[in-house]
Amino acid sequence: MTSNETVGNTRWHIKNVRILDPFTATDAMGDVFIVDGRFAAGPVQGMTVIEGQGLWAVPRMTDIHVHFREPGQEHKEDLLSGSRAAAAGGFTVVAAMPNTSPVIDSAALVAWERNRAREIGLVELWPMGAVTKGSAGQELAELGLMEEAGAMGFSDDGKPVANARMMRSALSYVSMLGHPIVQHAEDLSLSEGTVMHEGAISHQLGLSGAPAAAESVMVWRDVELSILTSGPLHVAHVTAIGSLEALEYAARRGAPVTAEATPHHLLLTDSAVSDWNSSPISKVNPPLRPTTHRAALRQAVASGLVSVIASDHAPHHMDEKAAPFPQAPYGISGLETSVGAVFTALLHSGLMDPLTLLARMTVGPHRALRAHYPGLVQGAAADLTLIDPHASWIVDSRAFYSQGHNTPMDGMQLKGRAVGTMLRGVWTMREGQVLA
Ligand SMILES: [Zn+2]
Repeated sequence: MTSNETVGNTRWHIKNVRILDPFTATDAMGDVFIVDGRFAAGPVQGMTVIEGQGLWAVPRMTDIHVHFREPGQEHKEDLLSGSRAAAAGGFTVVAAMPNTSPVIDSAALVAWERNRAREIGLVELWPMGAVTKGSAGQELAELGLMEEAGAMGFSDDGKPVANARMMRSALSYVSMLGHPIVQHAEDLSLSEGTVMHEGAISHQLGLSGAPAAAESVMVWRDVELSILTSGPLHVAHVTAIGSLEALEYAARRGAPVTAEATPHHLLLTDSAVSDWNSSPISKVNPPLRPTTHRAALRQAVASGLVSVIASDHAPHHMDEKAAPFPQAPYGISGLETSVGAVFTALLHSGLMDPLTLLARMTVGPHRALRAHYPGLVQGAAADLTLIDPHASWIVDSRAFYSQGHNTPMDGMQLKGRAVGTMLRGVWTMREGQVLA
């Protein structure tokens, strides 16, 4: 990317770029014009020209599953460092999970979080509200009031809504609201005390594993409850073959069910645990699975059965991640490797074409959360990411903008990277440097 910019310029002309806009099903070479925060139809006076040769221009890259840890655990991440990580990774919209301290379970907290992110101004943040008060699973939170305050969905993520009657109530409630319940599907009675996937590698390493069924039995239950209530359900981070079968069943029954897959489950397998000598750097929930599950998950993303890719960005302090495997917290810092991991696993492997793949990171997340955006069209807010699809790079977690440097992708070679991120016509990242 070359440029000759004037400081403060709000008029941009990106030349000779491949426009990939899943919102309008456009894949064409062309120019992109931005005037005062919005896409424009053509050139006007005073535009700064950017050469887009070799790059892709993608509107509204969206990640609907991140943990920004504020309030309460700012030593892991806060709204500023999380926003910077999002911009660095090429994202203009994120949905932040409510398992902070306190839990985001009231309209006031939802409004506070959204306003704080707006002050920072690096990413559009969609708050998720808790399903139950304090995510304690006992009493339904004020879903309607949180939605009025800007909540885009509801989740007790980090843990499941374990009680089926509670889940039924929550789904009944959101059938009248519109935004979905986002379930972390895990039967805790099957997974309690386990630290990875139960299989050949857990046996080899002597670590206690949970069966894939710990996830899929909960997905089957929730699909049935979505059918029963007509309540919109979004299944977070699916990984197991059985869960995918439940999603197929939901689709056949016409249930309002969507699901997401993470870049790490699409790229890695449970052999990462042995590759890292049982270091908890690869400890994540749900756990990394063997190749059979990964292959099925990749196919499901390709077919659209899983219509969303989301990072489950879960930053932790390295001291916490350095604990012994059983005690270390779950999670991978994922915003800054998402594009590279997904392109490496799904695009450069030849499994998916660019427009279909990018739909999983743009229009898919919008549909899952019932959000609307017109795409790269005249007058729309200029949320745009420039991607170099062929950039080969080695992950160096020390260079992350996130405070979380915990990733088993450290040292891996990935292909594909965001090189520019623009939020409402303002660059938040250029050539790897987060601005402001
Ligand atoms: Zn989760």
